[in-house]
Amino acid sequence: MRMTISNQFWGIENGKKKMHWRSWEWLTTPKALGSMGFRDMELFNQAMLGKQCWRLLTVPHSLCARVLKGRYFLHCDFWFAPQPRSSSFIWRSLMHGKKLLEKGIVWRVGDGRRIQLTRDRWIENSFLLKPIVPLPDDLTVHFLIDEESGDWNEGLIRTCFTEGDADKILQIPLSKTTCEDFPAWPHSKTGIYTVKTAYSFMRIESFHRFMSANGRGENSDQKETSKMWKRLWSIKAPPKMKVMLWRMAKDCLPTGSQLKLRNLHSSDMCCYCGREETVQHAILTCQYAYEVWREIKRCFGIKCKIQYLPSIKQWLFDFLDGATDEDATVFTITAWHIWEARNAVHNGENLTHPNRVAEKVKTYVQMALMHLFKSPTSHRCESEYSVPKWIPPPDGWLMINVDAATFKNPPRMGVGLVVRDHRGDFIAVCCQLIQRFDDPELAEAIAIRRAVSFSSEYNLQQVVVASDCLGVIKKIKSKVYDRSNVGVIVQDVKNLICENPSVTLTYVSRRCNKAAHVLAKQADVFKDVVWFNESPEIIRNIICNERLI
Ligand SMILES: [Zn+2]
Repeated sequence: MRMTISNQFWGIENGKKKMHWRSWEWLTTPKALGSMGFRDMELFNQAMLGKQCWRLLTVPHSLCARVLKGRYFLHCDFWFAPQPRSSSFIWRSLMHGKKLLEKGIVWRVGDGRRIQLTRDRWIENSFLLKPIVPLPDDLTVHFLIDEESGDWNEGLIRTCFTEGDADKILQIPLSKTTCEDFPAWPHSKTGIYTVKTAYSFMRIESFHRFMSANGRGENSDQKETSKMWKRLWSIKAPPKMKVMLWRMAKDCLPTGSQLKLRNLHSSDMCCYCGREETVQHAILTCQYAYEVWREIKRCFGIKCKIQYLPSIKQWLFDFLDGATDEDATVFTITAWHIWEARNAVHNGENLTHPNRVAEKVKTYVQMALMHLFKSPTSHRCESEYSVPKWIPPPDGWLMINVDAATFKNPPRMGVGLVVRDHRGDFIAVCCQLIQRFDDPELAEAIAIRRAVSFSSEYNLQQVVVASDCLGVIKKIKSKVYDRSNVGVIVQDVKNLICENPSVTLTYVSRRCNKAAHVLAKQADVFKDVVWFNESPEIIRNIICNERLI
């Protein structure tokens, strides 16, 4: 497989060896790090084995898991399973996959009793925790949780860890019911292991090792760079054009000056103007390219300053950073056509007039905009006219509209709950300010949990909790165990509904959820209050308007 890929790229063509433009390590590096993202089969195999281990770990009652446990780790956890000499090929392979899991897994904190404080990885994007005071090795995370309040013991945490670590710990949401600790795969959105995310995780790992072994170390703004490569690959344009753009950014297009650099006896002169042909020159600054760009800029109004070029990659990144999706598409299509026109001349074809190239680009762009940017605007317009109103619950039921708002510096969130009966009459309102969390999805999940626990606290029966966060509602309604960073809260809500089954959950659009939204935004003002008699001034109008007469 590897041979096939390398032959395709390097191999032999017309009896001559093809040029090695980039190394194998580069080609198989993930796209996020600026490469083509070809597959390394060895790592891919390990990622597949990791999937089998993940199954053993998350479906321990399966027949296969039970058989293996009986044979290899009867008296211990899968993590501590040994690899005896007599073990089968399958088991040895699984142990290879386990190594990958160990590197990538993170524990989600439920009650903290299964996680070893210093031996397990339980803080996302972080290495193992190193306490600043000596702590016993076998201590579990439960030690840091205050039994009475069920919250983190902040004083204890601040004594045991550095400020940075303490802050990270305090930002982990805790369960308010009895939720067990569980392993999660933080490299996928759902927290569930997939071969694709595992492979990509290992590739990035191996790339960093390769870079530091070559003395190139890690780039300080790697995160930023990785974001920009992702941006490049996400441009809405045909893949061949994006590959060309990628080669342009990497300066590995066979321009005159590149060929000369590689000692190929060819001219480094531009076929149009006779100047040195660098990648900048060929695509951007040559008078020929300039003419095309001028027409395209006039037609589509894209903003790209061509005069200042520190490095082609930086220039491209700067442009993409400030460009809209449409601009990025126009740019990619134009650059590709300029390069193609230049190649045609090199292959002995007649020179195409810049205006003709610009015309081709325009037609192509119009087609691309039509097909790649299909927007649901027509649907949106329709619903704009039918003004959605608050939707009442069935007769005899209550509705709790719930919403969350997040604030930065310091991170905090607001919860707004508005309780009404089926006529829309005001019953109660609750507003709460919660410190430390500012992740929107997490905030929505915490707000829903508050609404469900509110109905239990005040012994409300037959309640519809209405939220405008479809993602979290789907997670709560799903039978799958959610392992994402809101997983613990999702499990909490499931447990609470189990205890009080007359509570149901529904999704409403934002415009049906106005009162709760306004309230959540005011959490900084109201802090922590519950009103029962009269609605607060700030949402009185909304409640009046939405009331059914
Ligand atoms: Zn030129």
